[in-house]
Amino acid sequence: MKEIIITKNEENQRLDKFLLKYMNKASKGFIYKMLRKKRIKYKGGREEGNELLERLGNCRKYAWPMFTSCCPGWVSFMSKKYPEYLRNLSTAKSPQQMFGAMAKTYFAQKKGIDPNNICCISIMPCVSKKREASLSYMKSAGAGQDVDIVLTTREFVRMIRAEHINTRFLKEQAFDSPLGESTGAGVIFGVTGGVMEAALRTAYAVVEGKNPEADAFRAVRGRDGRREADFTLGDQTLHTCTVSGLANAEKLMEDIKAGRVSYDFVEVMACPGGCVGGGGQPIHDGCEFAERRGGTLYRLDSERKLRFSHENPEVQKAYEEFLGKPLSRTAHKLLHSEHVNELYFETHNYL
Ligand code: SF4
Repeated sequence: MKEIIITKNEENQRLDKFLLKYMNKASKGFIYKMLRKKRIKYKGGREEGNELLERLGNCRKYAWPMFTSCCPGWVSFMSKKYPEYLRNLSTAKSPQQMFGAMAKTYFAQKKGIDPNNICCISIMPCVSKKREASLSYMKSAGAGQDVDIVLTTREFVRMIRAEHINTRFLKEQAFDSPLGESTGAGVIFGVTGGVMEAALRTAYAVVEGKNPEADAFRAVRGRDGRREADFTLGDQTLHTCTVSGLANAEKLMEDIKAGRVSYDFVEVMACPGGCVGGGGQPIHDGCEFAERRGGTLYRLDSERKLRFSHENPEVQKAYEEFLGKPLSRTAHKLLHSEHVNELYFETHNYL
């Protein structure tokens, strides 16, 4: 296979700027991309933020700390090594799985398409997403697997290059509606601390009745592998921890098990730096792009007009027209998963 070299010019290039144009050429069907899934994570941010508040309001009902669940590498690691903590996982699905379920229900209804005729394709920075999409319980929409095919960004770049497409000559194009709008909160999901920050922005808005300053939770940012930060939400102090890399995750879990540390909300991403350092990203020997990609995501977030998941008009419309409210019965069916039972069973079937 031909070696791929990421040039200086390309390393910060936004794939979504030309993605739609390329994909339209590649297929006649409705193909939805992972970058669009990030927009659904609006819901993730919103569902996860609201789930956090629901747990804080009913402390005794839940196990603590609450762990994020959007990274399948981390969820798989935990289910094998620390299954006794599965019930601590947020029940919110990953952006990929939320999108698949919404594409084959809400989007299908809006467009009048039989969901069985939708092929949902993810483009992800991640190899673990391939397995996640194939899990037997990831078919909430009732039309086969919610996500049919997962390509890594590295595979996708190879496809583009194999067709000799020069991305510099492709013009930017808006995504389709519904579900085509995105916010800064969705963008930063790709970097360590981003899930936590997006969820806190929404949780704060729900508790205080007004938005925080968009960068109010920037203490969770950084590439040091493990960061702790305390925030005030209403009359409660929230102890948070953000971890990236499985070696750091293992140390964290041992500390929690031994009672050396105690947190309320913990974000874990399996890859160092988060998805910007994902195993499916384009690589070049001797170069590490995660930090620069992370910087790009924060810049894109700061340039966005919309920086809060709950302010995404397409998200608001999806709730009004279809989901009802966060944590509603429909939202639970499509956007959440009971990892405790299903993942444990699935994992031990795989082993
Ligand atoms: S951190 Fe790595 S394993 Fe986790 S979702 Fe991102 S790319 Fe996948």
